[in-house]
Amino acid sequence: MSPKNIRMDCDRALDLLIARGLEQSEHDSEFLQSHVASCPSCTEQSQTINRAVNDMRSSVTYANPAMVRATQMRVRARAAELRAQQETMRPLWISSALALGWAVVSMPLLWQGFSWLGHATHMPELVWQTGFGIMALAPITAVGTIGLASKFHNKATS
Ligand SMILES: [Zn+2]
Repeated sequence: MSPKNIRMDCDRALDLLIARGLEQSEHDSEFLQSHVASCPSCTEQSQTINRAVNDMRSSVTYANPAMVRATQMRVRARAAELRAQQETMRPLWISSALALGWAVVSMPLLWQGFSWLGHATHMPELVWQTGFGIMALAPITAVGTIGLASKFHNKATS
């Protein structure tokens, strides 16, 4: 048999290996068996294909309802965890919003108050303006501190 014929036999054997389980004549399967038995490279091909088919079968078997349920439970647990994290963050958001609201409402009044106090007591402008600055920044600083504290707290507990 010439090398070219062997090559063609190998091609035919590979086709048959891949198409196995589909319609296959007795003649074909006889040829396949005898060729695989006599050809090392096709023996290897056939083993590789068999392994791949077995792997596919077993991974289909593993995806049983119990495993699907376990995966769903894990996903649900993770979702609940994320929700809980968002809820611990909620008070911080509320206090931030309140502080911002307070700042918007109070800023002009605070400015007028300090300005009046500064002029009434003949305080240097820099002094009452600094006082205004500290008062205006106080809530923002407070929220920032709370935010940092809760961040450290979360890190310490998780
Ligand atoms: Zn072969």
